[in-house]
Amino acid sequence: MKISPIEKNPAALAVTPHLLDYENTCAGFTWESVRSELSGLPEGKGLNIAHEAVDRHAAGPLREHVAIRCLGQNGRSVDLTYGGMKERSNRFANLLRSLGVAKGERVFCLSGRIAALYTTFFGTLKNCSVFCPLFSAFGPEPIFQRLERGNAKVLVTTERQYRKKVASLLERLPELRYVLLIDLEYDLNERVLSLPRLMADSSGIFTIPPTDPEDMAILHFTSGTTGMPKGAVHVHNAVHTHFITGRYVLDLHPDDIFWCTADPGWVTGTSYGIIAPLLHGVTSIVDEMDFDAERWYRILQEQRVTVWYTAPTAIRMLMRAPLEQRQRFDLKKLRLVHSVGEPLNPEAVLWGERVLGLPIHDNWWQTETGGIMIANYAAMDIRPGSMGRPLPGIEAAIVTRTDSDTVQPEGDEVQGELALRRGWPSMFRAYLHDDARYSKCFVGEWYLTGDLARRDRDGYYWFIGRGDDIIKTAGHMVGPFEVESCLMEHPAVAEAGVIGKPEPVIGEIVKVFVVLKPGFSASEELRLELIGFGRTKLGSAVAPKELAFIDNLPKTRSGKIMRRLLKARELGLPEGDTSTLEGGESL
Ligand code: ATP
Ligand code: MG
Repeated sequence: MKISPIEKNPAALAVTPHLLDYENTCAGFTWESVRSELSGLPEGKGLNIAHEAVDRHAAGPLREHVAIRCLGQNGRSVDLTYGGMKERSNRFANLLRSLGVAKGERVFCLSGRIAALYTTFFGTLKNCSVFCPLFSAFGPEPIFQRLERGNAKVLVTTERQYRKKVASLLERLPELRYVLLIDLEYDLNERVLSLPRLMADSSGIFTIPPTDPEDMAILHFTSGTTGMPKGAVHVHNAVHTHFITGRYVLDLHPDDIFWCTADPGWVTGTSYGIIAPLLHGVTSIVDEMDFDAERWYRILQEQRVTVWYTAPTAIRMLMRAPLEQRQRFDLKKLRLVHSVGEPLNPEAVLWGERVLGLPIHDNWWQTETGGIMIANYAAMDIRPGSMGRPLPGIEAAIVTRTDSDTVQPEGDEVQGELALRRGWPSMFRAYLHDDARYSKCFVGEWYLTGDLARRDRDGYYWFIGRGDDIIKTAGHMVGPFEVESCLMEHPAVAEAGVIGKPEPVIGEIVKVFVVLKPGFSASEELRLELIGFGRTKLGSAVAPKELAFIDNLPKTRSGKIMRRLLKARELGLPEGDTSTLEGGESL
């Protein structure tokens, strides 16, 4: 099935997409030409993300334009203009300098989505220090692990977070020199200082020192879906990918109001919640609050959001909400909806068309890739269930590992590991303190993603599953996504999570955990109906043999189903690292 976005969406017709001719754009694309569109630091002193995203706009007509609008609780909001962002991030950079924080040293931020997080981000990059975000709902142990493994020198946080979670860790963190408290007017002691006081004492004028494009800029821990989170290192050069994906995938135009719902604790929230929209001089909306269907529809309407970037888990929650809720809001300004983080079930793409009036454009990438690599573009036919086609400038392939030194590229319609030709600007440069693991990701010229996929004859990529989640049953390889998507077509099913359960004869059996939509209740009759539904649609080799109802699926804080936890719980095995498991305390 194909959906043509342009023909179907009158809102999209008002704006001509940047990427109209995919083949020709790919053929003529060079990263060199993207380089020439960014300004670089004055006097040829290198490349710094903060200059490209903030300072060059602040020096021109966008000075008073809103860069980031933070929507707070109780309807309060804070606007940071490009000029204001420049001035405040300059102050932060100056205060880091006065505290003796050097180039390459790590500045962590543990806060909700509030204005200080964004000024900390840019100020850190301006000082050539390295920004590392933490989810605000992390408990003390995950915070400790990351601060320690990341060699944190400075932590920016709120007084409440500090008192509740950080104070007790300080003794175990000798490398951490300062904690800066966002909302405290006075210093607690020599190590725990008031950020407002330091900001007031610092100058708003700062010259970014020479920055090598290969200087480390951001340290991002992965989501921990499959195990212990890894610290992926990104450099200033990544800005080229952010820029070009902002243009070709997000399709940002000067008047756009863009909303990325991801938290900056996760890479989507920095690459696309902060950097990409600002590179294009648009206004980026940030909501401090967590998901709430009514609130989200209201934000889309009131903020007149034109381009929206969200995740399958949120879309599935909206699908569960009553239709009347959606109908109370006017979403006519919205012209493009994107999704990332997990496979987007075809049912969700079609729901978008029906209920939002727009299909949802899936795209694929990882913390390691730093930016979007495969996407459904605004002007291209969408094939529901496919993650789309590689970004111009990115060479993707389906490969099979032959031995540790070689891979064999496969043809169309063959299942294999998704690989990317190494060398794109936002490719991670290291796993912090784990060179061996980093090297293992590369074979020759290829970066191996650990995800399985296939490419169809028209060059669209289809996600099959994470290598770790693939189920081997009676000689078949089954990807959980296929089974989950099929069950979601049943009117009673809101969400499904699929695992392989060891079985001596056939290797593994397919087991599914189902969350029901409101209005349906678990019963033996419904269980048998769903098993029969799966068998009719998928065939007996692939269909789940076991089905259990569950109230909620375990998910990461970035909304990904943690199948490894479903499996560990089913088999009574240790749960492993659960630091990113959703459902901890919120502050
Ligand atoms: P960890 O590596 O710690 O186990 P993680 O892989 O979930 O966690 P991220 O880097 O946040 O950490 O997520 C990237 C992964 O998310 C991809 O490798 C892929 O498995 C999945 N993913 C992201 N986008 C999509 C998509 N559009 N379709 C299918 N899967 C996706
Ligand atoms: Mg991963």
